[in-house]
Amino acid sequence: MSKELINIRKTLHRFPELSGNETSTAERIAKELNSFQPDNLITGLGGTGVLAAFNAKESRAKKTILFRAELDAIAVTEESEIGHQSQNRGIMHGCGHDGHMAIILGLGRYLHQNPPKNLNVLLLFQPAEETGEGAALVMEDSRFSKLKIDQAFALHNLPGYEKNKIFIKKGTFACASTGVEITIKGRFSHAAYPEQGLNPALCVADLIQNAEKTLNRFREMDPLNKTVPTFIRMGEPAYGISPGEAKMGYTLRSATDEGLKKGLQLLEETIEASAKQFKGTIKKRRVEPFTATLNSDEGVKIIQQAAASTNTPLEIMDRPFPWSEDFGEFRKQFPITIFGLGAGKNHPHLHFEKYDFNDDLIPAGVKIFSEIVESYSAL
Ligand SMILES: [Zn+2]
Ligand SMILES: [Zn+2]
Repeated sequence: MSKELINIRKTLHRFPELSGNETSTAERIAKELNSFQPDNLITGLGGTGVLAAFNAKESRAKKTILFRAELDAIAVTEESEIGHQSQNRGIMHGCGHDGHMAIILGLGRYLHQNPPKNLNVLLLFQPAEETGEGAALVMEDSRFSKLKIDQAFALHNLPGYEKNKIFIKKGTFACASTGVEITIKGRFSHAAYPEQGLNPALCVADLIQNAEKTLNRFREMDPLNKTVPTFIRMGEPAYGISPGEAKMGYTLRSATDEGLKKGLQLLEETIEASAKQFKGTIKKRRVEPFTATLNSDEGVKIIQQAAASTNTPLEIMDRPFPWSEDFGEFRKQFPITIFGLGAGKNHPHLHFEKYDFNDDLIPAGVKIFSEIVESYSAL
C-alpha cells in the first residue's frame, strides 16, 4: 500500500502548482478518489478544492468528521536531483503538501476497504493554503458551508523534529499573521529636474524608522509578537530618472488574533502619520491574512488516544509555532485540531530549495488518521 502512495506522492511532486492554480493536481486527486468509490465527490470547491464523502453505512451518522490536505506548492526553484524533481520551473512542493495529499489518499483507500458504520467522513483537499486564502474560499462555497461538521483534523510534517513523533498543543498551535503592502506615490521626473518630481525615498526611510519604534512596542507585549519589513522596491538601476513610486511590505505575527490586531493598528497609525508628512499619497492594504490556529480540546484528546493505541510517541508542546496555517480559518465554521508529525531531526527544512517530503511519514500518517476514524466510530 505504501509503495503505491509513494508513487502518487512523487507524481504530485513532479507537477507542482501555485496557490489558486492547482487545476491538474485537483484533477489527479479527484481521479484517485473516484477509484475509492466515495458516496459523493465535489470538485471546484472554492476554486480548485476537492471533497470526497464516505457516509455512514449501517446506521445514522452520529458525527461528521473532516480530514484536510493542501493542494498547493510554492514559488521556489528546486535544487536537488531526486529523480522526481519538479517539472514546473520555479515551482516546487517545498512544504510537503504532496505528502499530506498522499496520506489523505491513503485514508481514502482505508475508508473504501473499511466503510464507516455510524460516521460520515469527509476528505478535503483545499486550494491556496500558502496564501492564507483557500480556507475562506472553500467556506464561501454553499456546497461546503451547508455541511454540519463536528470536528476537523490535519497534520503538518515537521523537519527538525524526531521522525514519526506527534507534536501537539492545546489552544494556539500556530500563530496569526498578516502582511501589509504599502504603496507610496510621488511623481517621476528627469534626474536633472528633481524639483519637477516627488521622490519617495525619504518618506520610505522615515516610515521604516518610525515603524521600527512603534513595532517595538508591539514586540514588547509578547515574545511571540514578531514583525519584519519583507520588501522595498523603488526605482531602477538607472541614473537619469528620479523615481515617483515605492512599494514595500511588512509581515506581523502574534499568538492571538487580538494581539495581531493591535500590531496592525500600530503599524497602520504609523503609515497614516507618514502620509500626513508626505506631499504624495500613501496607500496600505492587508494581504495574506492568517487567523491563529486554535486547537479544540476534544480533538487533542482524540489524537492523544489515537497515538496511545498506535504506539506513536507524542509530545505536548508548551509554545505555539511562530508560523501560520490557513487551517485555523475553518474554526469559523467548526472545531479544528492540527498536529505536527516529525520528519526527522536532520531533514531539510520547509520552503528550502533542497527540501523533499519524507515518505516514511506516509504509513504513520495514514495509521493515525484511520485510528481517529475508529475512535469516533467507537464513541
Ligand atoms: Zn508552506
Ligand atoms: Zn505547509
